[in-house]
Amino acid sequence: MSDYKIFINGQLCRARSGTTRDVINPATGEVITKVPLAGKEDAEQAIQAARDAFDSGPWRYFSLAQRKSYLLKISQGILSAACDLARMESENTGKPSKETTFMDIPSSAQTFEYFANNLERLLSARHVPLETEAKSELLYEPHGVTLLIVPWNYPLLIACWKMAQALAAGNTVVLKPSSLTPLTALKLGEIVKAAGLPPGVVNIINAPGASVGPDLCADPRVDMISFTGSPEVGQEIMRHASGAGKKMIMELGGKSASLILDDVDVDTAVRGSLTSIFLNQGQMCTAMSRILIDKKIAKDFITQFVEKAKKIRPGLPADPGTQIGPLISKQQRDKVLAFVEQGKKEGAKLVCGGKIPDAAGLKNGNFFEPAVFVNVTPEMKIFQEEIFGPVVCLCEFENEEEAVTLANNSQFALAACIWSGNPERAGKLAAKLDAGTVWINTYGMFHNEAPYGGFKQSGFGKELGEQGLHEYSRLKHVNRDTSAGKPLVAGWYSL
Ligand code: NAD
Repeated sequence: MSDYKIFINGQLCRARSGTTRDVINPATGEVITKVPLAGKEDAEQAIQAARDAFDSGPWRYFSLAQRKSYLLKISQGILSAACDLARMESENTGKPSKETTFMDIPSSAQTFEYFANNLERLLSARHVPLETEAKSELLYEPHGVTLLIVPWNYPLLIACWKMAQALAAGNTVVLKPSSLTPLTALKLGEIVKAAGLPPGVVNIINAPGASVGPDLCADPRVDMISFTGSPEVGQEIMRHASGAGKKMIMELGGKSASLILDDVDVDTAVRGSLTSIFLNQGQMCTAMSRILIDKKIAKDFITQFVEKAKKIRPGLPADPGTQIGPLISKQQRDKVLAFVEQGKKEGAKLVCGGKIPDAAGLKNGNFFEPAVFVNVTPEMKIFQEEIFGPVVCLCEFENEEEAVTLANNSQFALAACIWSGNPERAGKLAAKLDAGTVWINTYGMFHNEAPYGGFKQSGFGKELGEQGLHEYSRLKHVNRDTSAGKPLVAGWYSL
């Protein structure tokens, strides 16, 4: 068992609370390791370290080129530890190793690299052309202490998105991973230490959200909260932080819709749609859990989709042949199973999956067969609520207008897909969808260059891109009068 430590004020240390927690492998139910569990005293120390590191520098006063060099070292550190990180992430989350090896870990390193290589361009002062005799400049300053709270579905990747942007912008950081999946975040502490950042610039505490979260969020020494997680916890955090004038980013839940138009190549749309709901066991905020199909091709699409969904191979995450791993916890599987039962009770037809597989090798893990429902109507819970598991509703529409109405019939507005053979038609349709991101003929393409974030109950604020980086900066306007004699203000009272 590795010796994991929390990271406070430049030191890898045990928690002062003296408490540890078992980390469970969701594929086997076995204990992977024990990790320190931070208590209130540790959280207090982490915030103070971040506060001191911000207030007394030198991080915020480093040149942009200096910040860049540290971010590049972190990116390199992630790449050097990539094999270990991928193994840990698969063991801890249950994701098939293909996903962690080719997506989660390299993307985490690339985000640090992208913001390192672009921070000078994106954060340098900008001149604002004025029509009067004055000069205006915009300065991108850090907010101060940023509290980064991340969920269990992409533990390293989401932590790296937030940390890379927060550091690039000159903030100091307290990172709190989900206590279900702390391993790669704690390893990130080692990587940051090896990169030599000044003490206190990054602090990483594995702590239970419910007991330590409210104090962290309400603390006046915290200037910004960047949260990714459930809408319920997001609301709670906003209540704790309200009134303190903190900057917030909320990346919350989703119930995304994918539109399959009648001009599409059905085989491509079926394959793409399977990925869009069953990747990461459906535990994706952007999961296309409502697939809306033009009636003219619905029979063909549904037949092929169900046929292929039945063939998705469950297995242990380390096995390269595994296509779907376990859900994160027994509790999560119970929740997903309850939604399936509810769907049946409300009259939807389950056409495949929706059960716990009975293979002997899987019996100790939280495995669940990909579930496909048809005959779903918009008032049903499975159509409206975020399930966060491998459960999909296949619905049909008569025309584009009905497709848009169905897609927008949701409290969420995170993402959408359109599958079509006509890019112009798809582009026009994208403008009508309530979603922060619309993917056309693809799914899940996050680019460091482009912003991501939802509307309505899916939250507010952006991650990634210039707009995401600027969320982690406060914008200062410096205005200088260049007129001779300064007649307007200096001469106002003619005294
Ligand atoms: P969660 O809300 O239960 O937990 C998220 C984080 O919040 C964890 O670190 C947890 O410890 C912490 N937390 C819990 N209670 C807290 C409190 N009272 N104060 C402060 N922190 C607290 O979410 P989860 O179950 O880890 O993740 C699943 C949810 O995340 C889904 O709803 C999913 O849609 C959402 N999600 C959204 C995005 C996005 O980009 N919009 C991305 C990934 C996941």
